[in-house]
Amino acid sequence: MMATDAAGATVLETNNTGTNPDGSKMPDKKKTQFDVIIIGAGPSGYTSGIYCSRAGYDTLILSGILPGGQLVNTTEVENYPGFENGIMGPDLMMDIRKQCQRMGTTVVDDEAVDVDFRRRPLKVLTASEEYEGRAVIIATGANPRKLGLEGEETFKGRGVSYCATCDGPFFRNQELIVVGGGDSAVEEATFLTKFATTVHLVHRRDELRASKIMQERALNNPKITFHWNTTVTDIKGDQKMQQAILKNLKTGEELTLDVGGLFVAIGHEPNTTLFKNQIDLDEEGYVMLQSKTHTSVEGVFAAGDVHDRSYRQAVTAAGYGCMAAIDVDKYLTESTDKQE
Ligand code: NAP
Repeated sequence: MMATDAAGATVLETNNTGTNPDGSKMPDKKKTQFDVIIIGAGPSGYTSGIYCSRAGYDTLILSGILPGGQLVNTTEVENYPGFENGIMGPDLMMDIRKQCQRMGTTVVDDEAVDVDFRRRPLKVLTASEEYEGRAVIIATGANPRKLGLEGEETFKGRGVSYCATCDGPFFRNQELIVVGGGDSAVEEATFLTKFATTVHLVHRRDELRASKIMQERALNNPKITFHWNTTVTDIKGDQKMQQAILKNLKTGEELTLDVGGLFVAIGHEPNTTLFKNQIDLDEEGYVMLQSKTHTSVEGVFAAGDVHDRSYRQAVTAAGYGCMAAIDVDKYLTESTDKQE
């Protein structure tokens, strides 16, 4: 069952009645032991669920408080294979969720608040339950960093975007802004010149953080205009965004640009607070994989944006979910063989 939150985003409604919002039954309260526990319910988590259940494992997904991940806040998805005319993000996630449940995965719309990967079986705790699993797949995703402007929320999905690959083609023949100075911003600005008349790259310093080769490509692109030492201070519009106000941090000068879209590319924050001191994370908090989808702890795997800072697509997240489930199958088969 879908609802709309205060910011206008589509969310799944949650309740405490023993049923999930989509009407499916939550498991018997006493059932807390599973073969596989998947934390997170974006494309990677649900795909892991489909594969693990299909392989015969008793599988639980703890979906968190916003089941569906980032796609639940997306409008039309045009680049997920299988949908000739595109599909709305929330509809896609609801279909994958139902497919997962049809395979036998237990989905509980509750949030993991703690984990203990030092003991066997592995433990995942919610506020009210303690679940045990022989393997865990971390699929908690990452969230794009925000500028923190009021207009950013108002025009999210109506001009403001966090993914050029996903939304660029909706902005043909328009003037656009990309904010940021890292590889993502420079790559996205270059990509967007395929569609835009002009791309304004707005960066808060006077040098880019991006790699040399990507910088050169952007600096030599006649469709990209650079605004150095500059930030966006306001986003304005009516039904859709129409203007952005820029401020030069050195001179204080303000500039109003008439643009159809603004792409925020100032980094991502992986959802890994829960796993600090449990598994190896890199300096920015992304899960470090040892080999394939294995984390630093035996029996704990990761899939999707929580470890992937390069691709960040629904289809690649789903692919990682499949890979993690196959790795889990191998791990559980081998550990069962060892016990026999
Ligand atoms: P990033 O490297 O952390 O860069 C973020 C950029 O946003 C920086 O230029 C930063 O400015 C700016 N920024 C941060 N907070 C801001 C704020 N509040 N307001 C305005 N600007 C802000 O993030 P990323 O570009 O997403 O890249 C993340 C990682 O993925 C990097 O390791 C990158 O190399 C990798 N990546 C690789 C590729 C590729 O190889 N094809 C593509 C994309 C990403 P400052 O520079 O002043 O700090």
